[in-house]
This record gives sequence, C-alpha cells and structure tokens, in this order.
Amino acid sequence: MGQNEVLFERAQKVIPGGVNSPVRAFRQVGGVPRFVSKASGPYFWDADNKRYIDLIMSWGPMIAGHAHPEIVEAVQKAAATSFSFGAPTEGEIELAERICSLMPSIEQIRMVSSGTEATMSALRLARGYTGRDLIVKFEGCYHGHADSLLVKAGSGLLTFADSTQNAPSSSGVPQDVVKHTLVLPYNDTAALEAIFQKQGDQIAAVILEPIAGNMNLIKAKPEFLAAARKLTSQHGAVLIYDEVMTGFRVALGGAQSLQGITPDLTCLGKVMGGGMPMAAFGGKKEIMSKLAPLGAVYQAGTLSGNPVAVAAGLKTLEIVAREGFYECLAGQTQKLMSGLKMAADQASIPFAVDSVGGMFGFYFTSAVPTSFAEVTQSNIEAFKHFFHAMLDEGVYLAPSAYEAGFTSITHDNAVVDQIVKAAQKSFQKIQK
Ligand SMILES: *Cc1c(COP(=O)(O)O)cnc(C)c1O
Repeated sequence: MGQNEVLFERAQKVIPGGVNSPVRAFRQVGGVPRFVSKASGPYFWDADNKRYIDLIMSWGPMIAGHAHPEIVEAVQKAAATSFSFGAPTEGEIELAERICSLMPSIEQIRMVSSGTEATMSALRLARGYTGRDLIVKFEGCYHGHADSLLVKAGSGLLTFADSTQNAPSSSGVPQDVVKHTLVLPYNDTAALEAIFQKQGDQIAAVILEPIAGNMNLIKAKPEFLAAARKLTSQHGAVLIYDEVMTGFRVALGGAQSLQGITPDLTCLGKVMGGGMPMAAFGGKKEIMSKLAPLGAVYQAGTLSGNPVAVAAGLKTLEIVAREGFYECLAGQTQKLMSGLKMAADQASIPFAVDSVGGMFGFYFTSAVPTSFAEVTQSNIEAFKHFFHAMLDEGVYLAPSAYEAGFTSITHDNAVVDQIVKAAQKSFQKIQK
C-alpha cells in the first residue's frame, strides 16, 4: 500500500471523507486522493514522492507557480512581524489601492478571508442598499457556500449532491431561505428579461460569473451580459460580478476588462491572495458606504486583511502586472489546449477545448458547451478514464468533468509538451 492510501485511511477517521473541501475527493473518478508533500513551479509531489504537473494550481490562486521565490520571501518577511493584529495596517491600503487601480469599477473595497464571505457579504450589501430581498443567480454558477447561494450551484455540488429541480443544492438549507433566490439558465437573455418584467421592482441583485468556471468553462454571451447590465440599471437592482475565479486569472483587469461591462459590485478571491486565505468585495462608493462602520449593513472579520495574506497578495499582483505576463500565460494555455485537441483527434475521440488567459476547459463532447445543460451531456466515462490515464502519466487534472483547469506562468513550452505527450498516450489508451 502506498503512502497516499495510508494517509487517506488515517484522514477518513478524523475528517469527513478525508478531505477539507469536497472537490478534493476522488468520488466522481474513483481512487485515492493524492496527499501533497511539496510543490514548486508547475509541479507537486505526493506522499509517495511521485511528481505531477499540476493543472489545478489550488483551483486558481497559484498563477505565478508554486512557491514563487519572491512571494515566499514576502510572506516570510511579513510573518516575522507577527501574523495578525486586529488593527489596520498600511499593507491593506496598498492592496486596496492596487486593486482599485487595476479594476476601475471598484472605487472602494472590503477585504475578507474567503470567496464565500465575499459573495455572502456582497449580497447582504445589495439587499441592504436596495431594501429588497430577491436575488437572481444562474444555473451552474457557484458563488461559495452561503445558504442563499446554494441553489443549482455548479461543479462541487453537481459532482456530489443529488440536486433535484427547484430545491437547494445542499441539505441543511431551508426552503424559506432559498425562496428568495431565483435561478435562471446561464446565457438565457430572454429568461432574464422575463423575470425583470415580472418582478423587477423586488430584485435586489443579479449575481453571475462573467466567465463561468464552476461548470467547467463556459463563456457568457455578450448580449446576455449587456442585458444583465441594462435590466439591473433600469430596475434599480445591483449587478454583482463574481470574479473570485476570473479576477487576475483571465486578464489583469479580470473578465470585466475583456467584456467592457461595468458591474456595480465585484467579488474577488483566489489569485488576489496568492494562495493565502484572502478575498474581497468592492465597487461603487455609493453602495460600499452602506457598510459598517459607515452604514447599517454589518460585515466583519477577525482575520480580514490579514498581514501575511496581504503580503502574498501584493507580491502576486506585482508579478502578474509585469510586462507580457498575460500574453505569455494565455499563449501557453492555448498551446496546451490545441495540443490536447490534436491528440484527441488523432485517437478519433469527440473532444472540444476552450481557454481564457490562464483558465481552460476541455469537454468530452463535439462542441464547446454554452449552458449547464450542455455541460452535463459530456461523456463522463471517457473523462474518468482520461483522468486516471493522465494521473498515471504524472499529470494532475481536476477530479471532475465539471471543473475548469488552471495553468501558471511556469507552465512553459517544455511543460506543455510533456502534458501533450501524456495526453497522446492517454487518449490512445482510452480508445481501446
Ligand atoms: C472559488 C469560488 C468561490 C468561493 O470561494 P472560496 O474561497 O472557496 O469560499 C466563489 N465564487 C467563485 C466564482 C469561485 O470560483
């Protein structure tokens, strides 16, 4: 028995399912999760000291590569002056200033410790600001695990829960809470128009992933985003962009900089903390000023703006802002995707690919999907075989067909070539 098996058995005794977040489990693909012992650049090593090329990168944050020397140094320096004060620091101002300048829609920002907190707080703020209860979300979008957002909430829940129509995606969420959450199909402009026509004066907010990354990767149609902007403005609702995944991942200014639409509030996380527990929400000053201590919307956090996390975030944002970072990242990611596609074609396996910046999707279907319904039609059996074949070859993919994948700047041409070679072998294997 290998060390991963030994650790998994030990873990399952004291941690439900042996993991501290369900997406780390191998339930959909079968087998034993790999326990990571160390990581560097595009690689991590498991408990048996086997090396893998990492295509999850902590589900997004590690865009500069694992254990980037400059980030490690910044974190060590910050840690030496203690980890937390419960009083403000200059670093928080610097990080806030930097994000406000990179994302012009954000005039003010409040830091929290997880994406879940960011979206939960943004919703509360939108409700407090508008004095309304209803929120609109889209099928397959994940916005963290706050009660009111756990309705048709994408990959993790899709992989594990038995989600029935019009019910919360998780047990333990009261129907009374989710009755204020209206769920529409992603990219369905007509459905959005219809709901605003019917209940526009009761809707506090529309929350969406401007590039959906929690039902594999699905791009929003321009007319869908334009309609969301127009309808929320017309009806006095708040447009919330959940860029926890896409912020600083698809471009320096996030998805909103690529799509030319200005949201009222934006939620950030993942890359902005460089792998430390750090997230934020921000936007129009008029709305943000409703937050305590200025306004009546309460929101707080003992570890919010944590100085060690701020140091990691600041250094990460400095690295991604360097000349040519995203051009290089996007180029390498596209090269990886076209390599995978070619390998699948050689084995005559129906396969489609897509990517934006350092985020990618591949689908065992013949065309790139545009909705949650289409994503769920992909060939899960083929994915499972591919996943395990790649794992054997030393390439670590997300253990679910419904997740997006992530590269870093250290996934250079040589690393991409290794992955494509592994894919060629894997596709040949599953063809048999
Ligand atoms: C990861 C993610 C979240 C939740 O962030 P956590 O830090 O895991 O709580 C919210 N929204 C989106 C779009 C995400 O990808």
